[in-house]
Amino acid sequence: MQILHPFAGSVQQYTEQLADPDCYRPGYCPQCQTKHPLTAHGFYTRTLIDATFDGIIRVRRYLCQECKRTVSLLPEFVLPYLRSSLTVIALFLIARLLQAQTLHGSAQTAPPPMPYQRGQFWIRRFRAQAEALCATLAALTQPAPAPDFVHRALAMLESTGWVAAHRFLFAGVRCHLLGWPRGLAPDGRRAAFSSAAAPA
Ligand SMILES: [Zn+2]
Repeated sequence: MQILHPFAGSVQQYTEQLADPDCYRPGYCPQCQTKHPLTAHGFYTRTLIDATFDGIIRVRRYLCQECKRTVSLLPEFVLPYLRSSLTVIALFLIARLLQAQTLHGSAQTAPPPMPYQRGQFWIRRFRAQAEALCATLAALTQPAPAPDFVHRALAMLESTGWVAAHRFLFAGVRCHLLGWPRGLAPDGRRAAFSSAAAPA
């Protein structure tokens, strides 16, 4: 299970504090609710593209001694299963969908420069997710008057703040800001039937 790391800061600051397993050790198991601190259980690595970072970060994992399941602490500047940081994705979506810049122009908005096809993929997923985002984010902010769900969702994300919205969506209702990839159950668990279909 992935939960969000209760840490707000830069990629660099995140990397620096990772050495100490006690720093953000969960005091209970979010899966079986046992009230014992979890045991440090190594790391996994994932790629990350951010404005000033393009490389591999480590994600700390903990093990529950009671249910034997692991919990990983994902920093809140990343979205599960996507390489680019939340900031990079947000800047692209705003440029393309709110400011109506061209695909190519939008792809240059958020450093580092990237192939515009990556942005098209985010837009497809965001469009599919927009109505659900409007409904869910209404718990945090007033629904803005807008011509469609895509514009309304963007306005609500802007007024809430993208990281704050992601924190609420992911930690509160297990919702992925861009929708869970195919092959994963609605809450991000690998679906039983999906052994052949790897998540995109
Ligand atoms: Zn447990």
